[in-house]
Amino acid sequence: MIRVGVNGYGTIGKRVADAVAAQPDMELVGVTKTSPDYGAEGALRHGYDLYAAIDDRAAAFDEAGLATAGTLGDLLDAVDVIVDCAPAGVGERNRPTYEAHGTPAIYQGGEDAGIADASFNARASGTIRDADSLRVVSCNTTGLSRLLAPLDEAYGVEKARVTLVRRGGDPSETGRGPINDVVPDPAAVPSHHGPDVNAVLPDVTVDTAALKAPVTGMHTHSVNVTLEREPTAAAVRELLRAETRVFLIPEHAGIDGAGTLKDYAADVGRPRGDLWENCVWEESVSVQGRDLYLFQNIHQEADVVPENVDAVRTLATDVSREESVARTNEALGVGL
Ligand code: NAD
Repeated sequence: MIRVGVNGYGTIGKRVADAVAAQPDMELVGVTKTSPDYGAEGALRHGYDLYAAIDDRAAAFDEAGLATAGTLGDLLDAVDVIVDCAPAGVGERNRPTYEAHGTPAIYQGGEDAGIADASFNARASGTIRDADSLRVVSCNTTGLSRLLAPLDEAYGVEKARVTLVRRGGDPSETGRGPINDVVPDPAAVPSHHGPDVNAVLPDVTVDTAALKAPVTGMHTHSVNVTLEREPTAAAVRELLRAETRVFLIPEHAGIDGAGTLKDYAADVGRPRGDLWENCVWEESVSVQGRDLYLFQNIHQEADVVPENVDAVRTLATDVSREESVARTNEALGVGL
């Protein structure tokens, strides 16, 4: 059993905790919280042991009547891998603590690539050996990597150009925006997302531009890829249909946007209405010469979750990437 802890039980951390707990070869030892808020209560209701992320705030949990099993240091000493799901930039501040305890760590995409021995995406990363730390790339980079890796293998990517319409904030982030605008963010073109794809797919040329929109559900990518060899739209659809972490939305489904996608996810019983897969509109997959076009939606709260599980196995075992992906998919029910 791989013993795993989650440090930071927010949007990503609570999902990673559930995904780890669902794996037959992993044990979720516990999760941390900085304060005894509703998330802490939720963790206890799930049956997870709760640890205080910050030592001198431990008493606040006692005062709120929430039992803790110890502090972050205790958790680090009890696990084989810690998954850092703290806010962007806080992972860098947590790194010396993990290193002091000799605990291998996984970081999230809000951290700089240099934080870890390698950046990780289960579909796109090359072989990783002897790493003590990994960084699971961001939600947008995960979505782009899953798409561009099979296209590059099948046809060769000459150049990808992607416009990312990003959600303004997650549903629980009441203070985020914009409320009533669509704003270039970052205003500089190309955006940092393309270079981040190169952290896992170094040989693929990809330029990205990003906007922020007043929605919370999902990101939308408008994708144009110039391929080295001319495909047919039908062949690209078959290629993507074969990818276990790509959901090719059939035309007959009547799914026209993030709202209906999330409704579908809830209908089929997905926890929290999560969509772990890239959601590609089948009818949008079209080809003009060597240019491929398509639209895909990315559920920012969910797509990195199975990747974190595979990152844990990569750090802690010799299980092959393909075997890990198969195990993760089976345990969670990835694939629509
Ligand atoms: P979040 O704010 O929802 O959750 C972070 C949690 O960490 C909160 O519960 C917070 O209280 C806690 N925390 C704060 N300081 C801490 C500390 N010192 N030690 C431990 N925990 C601490 O953030 P999130 O959206 O889950 O993002 C976490 C990471 O995942 C970031 O790097 C982010 O860039 C990345 N990420 C986020 C998304 C997304 O869309 N939400 C998608 C992919 C990757």
